[in-house]
Amino acid sequence: MANRIRPLDEKVQPVRIALRQINVEEVARQAEVPASTLRYDLRKVEAALPEVLANQTPGPKPPDSTSPVSNRLQPVEEVKVCPVCSGRVRKNGTYKILNWLLMLTMGWLGIQTVCIQRRRCKTCGYEMVSPERARQAEARRAWWRQVARLIGLSRFKLGLSVRKTQLLVGFVYARQVSVGYVERLTHRLGQRAQSVLNKLNQCRQNVAQFLLYDETFPKLSQQVYSLGVSICEYGLIRSVRCIRQKAKDIPAQLRAVVGEHFHPTYFLTDLDVLYKEYMTKAGLNLTHLRDKVHLIRQIVRLFEEAVRDVTLEVPKGLPMKERKQQLQLKRRLLWKRLQPLLSLAFKAFSPGYESVCVLMLEGLVSQLQDPAVIIQSASVQTLARRLQRFLNKHADTINLLLQLSVEQGTPTTTNALESKNSLFKPFSRIAKFFSNLARCEAFFAGVALMENFDIKTRGAHQGTNAMQRAGINLEDLGATDFFSAVGLPKPQISFADVTE
Ligand SMILES: [Zn+2]
Repeated sequence: MANRIRPLDEKVQPVRIALRQINVEEVARQAEVPASTLRYDLRKVEAALPEVLANQTPGPKPPDSTSPVSNRLQPVEEVKVCPVCSGRVRKNGTYKILNWLLMLTMGWLGIQTVCIQRRRCKTCGYEMVSPERARQAEARRAWWRQVARLIGLSRFKLGLSVRKTQLLVGFVYARQVSVGYVERLTHRLGQRAQSVLNKLNQCRQNVAQFLLYDETFPKLSQQVYSLGVSICEYGLIRSVRCIRQKAKDIPAQLRAVVGEHFHPTYFLTDLDVLYKEYMTKAGLNLTHLRDKVHLIRQIVRLFEEAVRDVTLEVPKGLPMKERKQQLQLKRRLLWKRLQPLLSLAFKAFSPGYESVCVLMLEGLVSQLQDPAVIIQSASVQTLARRLQRFLNKHADTINLLLQLSVEQGTPTTTNALESKNSLFKPFSRIAKFFSNLARCEAFFAGVALMENFDIKTRGAHQGTNAMQRAGINLEDLGATDFFSAVGLPKPQISFADVTE
């Protein structure tokens, strides 16, 4: 059997016997060395026999058991001289660190580690920073930055709760961040967003003439406070504030929103009577306009009240049931009479009638007062009186509002603002955890700033964001998107590091 593998013992034994048959004294004499020395050397050979005669594994020698990465980088880090004391630098064991680069690029893989070769100065103990360690440190910063960006997106755009955000990060990166971290980060980003919003009026921008203001009442916490939102005609959210004491907080908000590059002429609100007072209190002298939708709604309400307040004069002794029937009938008849007049009011506010809107409304009042048009019952007379009072109060601002909209295309409604308000509502559900007013305000500022940078994918403003429409100079603002505005630009990581 030519190619039989011989056991080690079978090879060692014969050689050992051969070694013992050597005549040590004779050989020592011939070689002119002491016999004891020769005997000592032979014993060493005999002891080494198993090692010498063992079969060698074919193929190249296996590489060092430490990471191939550090091996590959060895030529680069072969710095032999200590930069501190010029002593000799030697290898000093290996240690494992998290492989941030892999976790950044393929987070779903989960926790990965990499082995680092430590090199230390023998004299002073200075430890050299290997290129791999520097690379991982850069990747670690990038990882945390990217996770923070993800949290920002989740909180201020997707409207996910803290725990759902935690879940999202865990899914993408297979690595947990704590609830506390998400909460603290949310607050920090919110505060930064707040200061960015405060800076808006100091940036060069398109001339904005309108300041639209409204309050919304999302369920913020047990203590009820509302959210005051102000935008301009471009739909840019200029400020959000939690309002606890209206008389103090609203004027403060209005005062803060106007600044060097934003000084509107018109103040557009709903019909709340106090807004004018707040505006004056804020030291602003704007022309106060009222939202068209609210004006129409007010007219509808007056008509409805007239129908509801119908009085009935009936003979005594009529049973209750028939009395009710009579009343219903009278209401129905009056409603039928009033309906054409009400549709006239709707027509007055519709596009194309801007120049004659107030005239039409005045005509409406005189028709209401005309016995030939409608029976002058008590409730109809009241309606005519109230409508006249409404006109006395709002005729001028209605004319101005409609004139501006025709001439300059400015808004006649606060619809844009109300759609912003409805945006905040779902967020209040995840913000309810903030029992604290300041935290809440910061949170909504984050939502507002995200919305300002949000490029619309459909609708009238498709392809633009509010910042662009308002012409905010982004150099003045110092940011081009939400994340750079709150100090989280895309992490800069050298491409070579990733592909190497
Ligand atoms: Zn040294």
